[in-house]
Amino acid sequence: MEGTPSRGGPVRKAPRLSTPIEYLKGIGPRRAEVLAKDLNITTFRDLLLLFPRRYIDRRQITPLRQVQAEGEYVQVRGRLQSLQYQRGRQRSWLVGLLEDKTGTLPLVWFQGHAQIRKMLQVGQEYLAFGRVSYYRRRPTLPHPEMTLITGPETTEHLRIVPIYPSSEKLRKMRLGPRQLHQAVMRVWEQVRDEIDENLPDYVRRSLRLVGRREALRMIHQPATMEEIDIAKQRLKFEELFFFQWQLAATRTQRRQQREGIIFSKEKINAPGSFTHDFIKRHLPFELTGAQRRVLREIWQDLASGTWMNRLLQGDVGSGKTVVALITMLAAIDNGYQAVMMAPTEILATQHFQTLSRMLFGLPIRIELLTGATPARKKQELYRDIESGRIHIVVGTHALIQEGVRFQRLGLAVIDEQHRFGVAQRARLWQQYTPRPHVLVMTATPIPRTLSMTLYGDLDVSVIDEMPPGRKPIRTHVITERHLPQLWEFIRRKIAEGRQAYVVYPIIEESEKLDYRNLMEGYERIQSLFPEPDYRTAMLHGRMRPAEKDAVMERFARGEVHILVSTTVIEVGVDVPNATIMAVINAERFGLSQLHQLRGRVGRGDEQSYCFLVRGPKVSAEARTRLRALAETNDGFRLAEVDLKLRGPGEITGTRQSGNILFRIADPIEDVRLMELARQTAETILSEDPDLQHPRHQVLVRYLEQERANMGWAQVS
Ligand code: ADP
Ligand code: MG
Repeated sequence: MEGTPSRGGPVRKAPRLSTPIEYLKGIGPRRAEVLAKDLNITTFRDLLLLFPRRYIDRRQITPLRQVQAEGEYVQVRGRLQSLQYQRGRQRSWLVGLLEDKTGTLPLVWFQGHAQIRKMLQVGQEYLAFGRVSYYRRRPTLPHPEMTLITGPETTEHLRIVPIYPSSEKLRKMRLGPRQLHQAVMRVWEQVRDEIDENLPDYVRRSLRLVGRREALRMIHQPATMEEIDIAKQRLKFEELFFFQWQLAATRTQRRQQREGIIFSKEKINAPGSFTHDFIKRHLPFELTGAQRRVLREIWQDLASGTWMNRLLQGDVGSGKTVVALITMLAAIDNGYQAVMMAPTEILATQHFQTLSRMLFGLPIRIELLTGATPARKKQELYRDIESGRIHIVVGTHALIQEGVRFQRLGLAVIDEQHRFGVAQRARLWQQYTPRPHVLVMTATPIPRTLSMTLYGDLDVSVIDEMPPGRKPIRTHVITERHLPQLWEFIRRKIAEGRQAYVVYPIIEESEKLDYRNLMEGYERIQSLFPEPDYRTAMLHGRMRPAEKDAVMERFARGEVHILVSTTVIEVGVDVPNATIMAVINAERFGLSQLHQLRGRVGRGDEQSYCFLVRGPKVSAEARTRLRALAETNDGFRLAEVDLKLRGPGEITGTRQSGNILFRIADPIEDVRLMELARQTAETILSEDPDLQHPRHQVLVRYLEQERANMGWAQVS
């Protein structure tokens, strides 16, 4: 990243906005360190852009009788009637009784008695501010903030109080919400003159947005509740606008600068080409409408002369693999090689087998390269990849290790993108010129609105149609009490020739315990389904790749009836004869993970079932998750539910190492504003790409200034 330009010219005074936060009065190096770690705040500017989470209207004084709602912050005013100890069995506490015209309210202190007694005087009038809590069925205020009323001036200064996000550590260092507010106001006093407008006037006027300085004042120190909304509208738009600006600029830049290999459409469509013959003669089924549309979108890219960087999104089982294969054939028809990278050994192996089967009879050499490939074989593969004798290589990240060098790489397909880091992915194709086209496949359904905005610099294709004849999976949420019925059901289905998965959770922190549960579960299932009538097997992440493969093989061949497993089977595995998925302690899995697991069944003609077995104690959120799964098979619908429950960052993987994509905007709630921001950014960029027009000078100035600061999340 570049620094601020400093080529000669007059020396500009260093902007106070970029002053390190430790130099703010009352902060110092110790707090600065925690601020950086917990809230990502390192400069004055960062603190100014720390927005309140909510506000408390302290201009309001609630009559004592009306104090009711538990957990709510209230401010009351009254005379301190008494201040006395009350003794419990273990300890004692201090109770003050406040009285106004409407009634009384107890104030309670469990700690710091001596100080409180010194500070408060019975008979005086106070403002008390705190959070309502119930004790012996009466509302009380524990540990309220007390202000002595000395005259009318005490209440004249009451304001709306912003509450800032803080952390446990910061609170301990006496940097809680209130102190943060003071710190923000101190910064504000010092930098307010430096705050320049960054949106063109005409944009602001047409959208009726307040000025930047005004908005920042309002958000931190609102005079009325309306001002908060006015400020938010402006600041959200600003944030979304520059986010969209960045995406649009990247997109434009890519279209202009990145030349791509041209795959000729004639070569792809000509009879006798691999692509043509495969679709016409080898494909065992008709492509769905969605698959055909997506292929058209891809071919459009490939023939355009610009570099393709496309995200192929499609729910579990929607048929992404065949789309990838056809795209690889297009590369081969044009004299190039193709590579496909998958996140796990099992998945890579499976892709390799599927593709080999589909390509059977075609003069195409396809090979598998993973960590488990023997060294001798690897050397041979490296050689044949480099000489161009191998057309398609399928593998794991072993592909990006030393030694793999393609002769003419034309296309890189990457499956299940969220498992690879952005940089890791790029290593697959970066070293080649011309740059190979990239097709990223993901089964993580991202709601359409969001994928447009988050992956704005990738082109997105969506397979939104399932192959015909699929029977929707029946999903049931059951409790552990119903396990006997579940085993009975599995027994019946095995008798009909089907197979089942039973999945146990392995969550890292409690790994040991989880493995014990898995082992115990497996033993129980073995005793319930004894040999020789039944054959069971276990699969987990601690097994060696070769062992895992052997187990998967046996299951795929139908030699194993029940596969007891962890989530290692989550992605991609395809055994159409398996029709039952039982997930133990389902409440411990995330929504998309459960959806992925469920996607392991329902892949053949038989009716499939998913049983989500939940433990006795389940949170409301987990309940919502499980209910959503029982209600729908639609991954996009589920993604929206997930999004509401968890927020966008975690789903898309963009919230990496505390890097928050948005400070104030909410990409879900503010979709309309997001769309407006996108249109505005695109219009400006298309009408005035070099920002020559005087009315766009605000943008030039701001972008220059902020280039070093902007932590825009890059989604490759
Ligand atoms: P995913 O999108 O989850 O990777 P796959 O590519 O594994 O899905 O496809 C799931 C199954 O559907 C495979 O067995 C595949 O052969 C089959 N399939 C794909 N496309 C079609 C189609 N158009 N008609 C029928 N079956 C299809
Ligand atoms: Mg797949």
